[in-house]
Amino acid sequence: MNILITGGSGFIGSHLSKLYAQKGNNIFIIDNLLTGNRKNIQSIPSGSLIFFEQDLTTFNLTKLPHIDICYHLASPASPVQYKKHPIETMRVNSEGTYRILELCRNKGCDRMVLTSTSEIYGDPLEHPQKESYWGNVNTLGDRACYDEAKRYAESISMTYHRSFDIDVRIARIFNTYGPNMELNDGRVVSNFIIQAIQNNPITIYGDGTQTRSFCYVEDMVSGLVALGETEDIQGDVINLGNPDEKTVLELAEIIKDMTDSTSEISFEGIGEDDPKKRKPDISKAQKVLKWEPKVPLDQGLQKTINYFESELNKQN
Ligand code: UDP
Repeated sequence: MNILITGGSGFIGSHLSKLYAQKGNNIFIIDNLLTGNRKNIQSIPSGSLIFFEQDLTTFNLTKLPHIDICYHLASPASPVQYKKHPIETMRVNSEGTYRILELCRNKGCDRMVLTSTSEIYGDPLEHPQKESYWGNVNTLGDRACYDEAKRYAESISMTYHRSFDIDVRIARIFNTYGPNMELNDGRVVSNFIIQAIQNNPITIYGDGTQTRSFCYVEDMVSGLVALGETEDIQGDVINLGNPDEKTVLELAEIIKDMTDSTSEISFEGIGEDDPKKRKPDISKAQKVLKWEPKVPLDQGLQKTINYFESELNKQN
């Protein structure tokens, strides 16, 4: 198959690209490297990959052959990164998504998997979050460039699906971690691991009672593939994540223990609209995709710690 992966050299995109390449497919990546990194896809044989270092909002899509499935992942996804690049975040999720949908309408691509996010639920008033929940998002806050852009991406995708019978599927991705997160990514798992390895203070924003549920990247990628390859689910939206919920303080203690770190815990100010609780209800994914995450937190964290140790060693 010809697989197009926008954002294919980013954190999740690079794992997806590798998996599809290993299965003998032709991979096409469009990535402007705003937050992605070419080193993440170095191991993919050049014969099975065509890489366009291009911005999706301006790339000439006629350069592509016929695409069987497009996985649309291009976007900053870490709060630190999308707050740093708010315009790019809004544009790639609005104009970028529109351009892939037009490609589908013009028969250049058979199917689009949109990667949306648990952030569309905002600071949720329903717990755990089911796909039927409409969310609680501040349109004016500094997270809105991501949350509202993804909400728009969902809406335009469903509009194209209804208007032109385009085969779209929507993944709402919950917190994911693992190798290929950037050292400067800024999300909680990578921050805590790097701080713990270096015995620097572990920065907890707020009092650490807020919760997240962490999914290992290998599980996330198998969920995305199931969503992309299951037949007759066009127009479906499905939560992908691991429901194993932890407070941020618990996560800090676990990572400190696993790294034998002497780091202090440092409590710092919390960002605007930081969700207090987040946990996916994955019953729809279990039923429709026959998918559920398999990697327990301690195993996933160990692999991620090993990755960051090796990345930090390369810097020394
Ligand atoms: N967080 C933290 N310290 C950090 C980074 C993040 O306490 O160094 C908190 C953050 O305030 C949030 C949670 O960890 O409550 C998850 O943050 P992250 O940036 O990983 O992603 P989010 O789920 O907010 O998109």
